[in-house]
Amino acid sequence: MAYDDENVFARILRGEIPAEKVYEDEHVLAFNDIAHLAPVHVLVIPKGQYVSCDDFTANASDAEMAALMRAVGKVARDLGVVDSGYRMVSNTGPDAGQEVPHFHIHIFGGRRLGGLRRQAGGGE
Ligand code: AMP
Repeated sequence: MAYDDENVFARILRGEIPAEKVYEDEHVLAFNDIAHLAPVHVLVIPKGQYVSCDDFTANASDAEMAALMRAVGKVARDLGVVDSGYRMVSNTGPDAGQEVPHFHIHIFGGRRLGGLRRQAGGGE
């Protein structure tokens, strides 16, 4: 799948639409999800143009990959959800319901998130 540089996260990265930034470095941007599903709901994205987790893990540099995971940990620490706990989710492709075709990791926290079984296998 070719990268669509008009997707909403590409536009956020270019500063064309606003986002509530919580972290930024050379390779990564993290910002609040616009339709948050938990008290903490942050999206951590690479600045590089990667459609999905598949594209990212196949084609990103080691530096980009390390930066993304470091950023996930830092955001969780900075937002104070390490002790209470948090969940990382990344949707890839149609079966997972990926809506935005720019790789992103969701961080959820700040409340009891419920069992993974319902999320992963509960059906429609
Ligand atoms: P996914 O279904 O994993 O592709 O998740 C896409 C996420 O992007 C959803 O949780 C949306 O609420 C979020 N989203 C879409 N547009 C924006 C935006 N302009 N700013 C922040 N989050 C957004």
